[in-house]
Amino acid sequence: MLLIAALGICCTVIVMSFVFYRLFCTQVFDDLRSCANIIQKAYEADPELFETEADFDTGLRITVIDSGGRVEWDSAAPAETMDSHADRPEVLQALEQGEGQTVRNSETLGKNRFYYALRMDDGRILRVSKEASGIEMIMLSAVQEIGLLILILLVVCGVLASLMTKRLVEPVEQMAEHLGNTGNVRIYKELQPFVQMIQTQHEDIIKNALLRQEFTANVSHELKTPLTSISGYAELMEMGLVSSQEDTVRFAHEIHQNANRLLTLINDTIQLSSLDAGQRDVVMEEVNLYEVMKRCESLLEINAVKHKVTLEMSGDETAVIYANKEMIEEIICNLCDNGIRYNKPGGSVWATVMRTPDDRISFAVKDTGIGIPQQDYDRIFERFYRVDKSRSKQTGGTGLGLAIVKHIALLHEAEIRVESEEGAGTEIQVIFKKRG
Ligand code: ADP
Repeated sequence: MLLIAALGICCTVIVMSFVFYRLFCTQVFDDLRSCANIIQKAYEADPELFETEADFDTGLRITVIDSGGRVEWDSAAPAETMDSHADRPEVLQALEQGEGQTVRNSETLGKNRFYYALRMDDGRILRVSKEASGIEMIMLSAVQEIGLLILILLVVCGVLASLMTKRLVEPVEQMAEHLGNTGNVRIYKELQPFVQMIQTQHEDIIKNALLRQEFTANVSHELKTPLTSISGYAELMEMGLVSSQEDTVRFAHEIHQNANRLLTLINDTIQLSSLDAGQRDVVMEEVNLYEVMKRCESLLEINAVKHKVTLEMSGDETAVIYANKEMIEEIICNLCDNGIRYNKPGGSVWATVMRTPDDRISFAVKDTGIGIPQQDYDRIFERFYRVDKSRSKQTGGTGLGLAIVKHIALLHEAEIRVESEEGAGTEIQVIFKKRG
């Protein structure tokens, strides 16, 4: 600001000096013209005016020149000593146009001489001239005032700059101190978008931290139950409280079951964490959905038999999507597994690959199971959310399956649709986006 102010002042002074100098010149020439006119009138009244020895002390120099350029009379020097004035611009101009004017450097330092020439009726040239300050002198004479002005402006600018800086920075500083509560901070309009962005980011960070905290707490809690069981059964065996062979098998089975649950839980957690971390090297390739579905079928067959559920897979064998193969396998297995686990004995699960009317490829799993209440359609995709907790646990559910499905779908920009009727069955459909 100080620099700009100083620069502004200098530029203004220079420009104004030129403007005023031009005005000043006009004024000087106007004066000279008036003088010349008066002298001309006097000469007309008294033709002998220029024959006498001049003794003017007016600061004016008067010269009479004949039409050939010879000096006839001069108020400052004897005319005979003066050389021809035929080449003087003002004289030439006056001869041609009736009047002429020029400014020339004076012998006096820092001064200029202003000449005004007038052609009289008899053809002679009457020239008047006067010495006046040059532009350098005018500027120089203003130096003191300019210096003072610069000083005053610098002080004013200094104060203003410091006030403004304070005003600009103050809300930012206050905000930095109370990021959680920016309501009391007085914010000017220009800062608003920035504040809003910071606030949103801040809230997001807090929300994420809370979610992570909650997730960690949930995971720990989920790990605790099977571990407590394992520890309990092992302790009983250790104390020799298991006498019969039958009990040993039962306890070992429980330990095995709970250890399996732990493993599934840990696997799911690891998977979600790595999805959360946003792996950068997700390999995307052309994946035949039908083939992946068939592989899941072989993995889930035993499970289906165990739950007395028939698993049928059909659809478009040529449907190819651009995706990560393992992740797609995870989606298909999770959805089919849910269809089996939340089914009724004798029920069915149909998995289909097909094309939607708008030519997207979709994968749907339909079951004849217990169904999902409508108000839970969204919540089932939350981590650890279960509609029926005991059933989920009893069938080896972790509460993370659909959260993983949703995460993967999001990563592939796929859309998920849920349709269900309580007691009648559920259909979950994943529609993949068109390639390209
Ligand atoms: P879980 O491991 O408990 O199955 P998911 O994330 O896979 O966890 O599913 C969340 C909840 O959604 C389940 O606990 C269950 O209550 C409900 N759910 C999921 N799929 C079905 C289905 N096909 N039929 C009925 N309920 C389902």
